[in-house]
Amino acid sequence: MKCANDIDARDVEEMFINIDPIQAGGRLTPEALKAVIAYADGYSVCDHCRKPFRLDYIKKPPIAEFHEDCARWLNMDVLRVVPGARRGFQAVASTLVQKGDPVILTSLSHYTEFVSVEQSGGVPHEIPLDENNHVTAENTAETIEKVVRESGRSPSLLFVEHADYQYGNIHDVCGIAKVAHQYDIPVLLNGAYTVGIMPVDGKALGVDFVVGSGHKSMAAPAPSGVLATTDEYADKVFRTTQAEGDVTKRTFGIKEVEMMGCTLMGVTLVGLMASFPAVKERVKNWDTELEHSNIITDALLSVEGTKIESDCPREHTLTRVNTIESFNKVAETHKKRGYFLSKDLKKRGIVGVIPGSTMVWKYNTFGLTDKQTEHVADSFRGIAEDNGLTIS
Ligand SMILES: *Cc1c(COP(=O)(O)O)cnc(C)c1O
Repeated sequence: MKCANDIDARDVEEMFINIDPIQAGGRLTPEALKAVIAYADGYSVCDHCRKPFRLDYIKKPPIAEFHEDCARWLNMDVLRVVPGARRGFQAVASTLVQKGDPVILTSLSHYTEFVSVEQSGGVPHEIPLDENNHVTAENTAETIEKVVRESGRSPSLLFVEHADYQYGNIHDVCGIAKVAHQYDIPVLLNGAYTVGIMPVDGKALGVDFVVGSGHKSMAAPAPSGVLATTDEYADKVFRTTQAEGDVTKRTFGIKEVEMMGCTLMGVTLVGLMASFPAVKERVKNWDTELEHSNIITDALLSVEGTKIESDCPREHTLTRVNTIESFNKVAETHKKRGYFLSKDLKKRGIVGVIPGSTMVWKYNTFGLTDKQTEHVADSFRGIAEDNGLTIS
């Protein structure tokens, strides 16, 4: 079936249980699905834009109110919507990082964090991981000391992932931020994998910026996200334009430089806003999400030879699993080679595992019901059994 021209209709979420690592938290709520149809046209949220002509002032639909509610929900002072977490990183790095400045990232930082540093001319320095694949306060202190010693300059920004994209491990943001602040380094929390799926309290974590991804974790269309900060940094990152036309002498009011004036002007913002009540509710069910996550790791661990490379028990729904000694052994002789696993899963109605991968791979159980969780767990055990692996 086509939805237009040669574009296939997409029915993945209707037809399958999708455990794709990056898609689980970005599925739209029914409310968002309805709202995006109503606001599908271009600059749809601009119907009632009045002086001073800025997105975050619009009252109808209640965009101004959303900005306040969402800031409060994250326990931060000021919030803006951005086209993806990466644009949040970009706004902060572009404001705080000067050419040649050292910037602290971690050995689990996402490429978009690196790119934002590169754009602003900063020099990235990674905090090494400990033996459990964690970013620690101790290694943060050592890295800062080393960078200051070797470059003779103080880092202008530190990025830390709340949950990283490789293991889905939760890192000691509190401890790391405390260390960074001893050196007067502002801290950006990368909440791409946490804001919208688990509780996040910016003040409790002690960070200066909270960045979230709408399409990764807030049940919103792409590209969307949020950038929240404190009163201390709001004036800097959300500074207004000083530009003036030399011929016309035009000035541009209160448009914010890093936001390019306005950011999400239609379907993305309305989707984000429409899902927000459900998102606020769902983070309260994080314990259930973790139970589901652990039911699946238990099932995988019962397949002899399988290792969970993420923290166990799981503290997140994104998990990295090593099946070199289990499913990959099957792949060596199977006529479908490594594709047997994704094919067998699909037969059981499950998608989201990269076709062909049987060595080290990731999945995300976020949003599964109890019944779906049992089905995924049974399926991993069943596929293992069907292919002669030992179940304990
Ligand atoms: C997905 C992801 C990003 C990028 O998020 P966008 O909203 O797509 O820009 C950044 N950091 C981490 C850790 C991620 O997992």
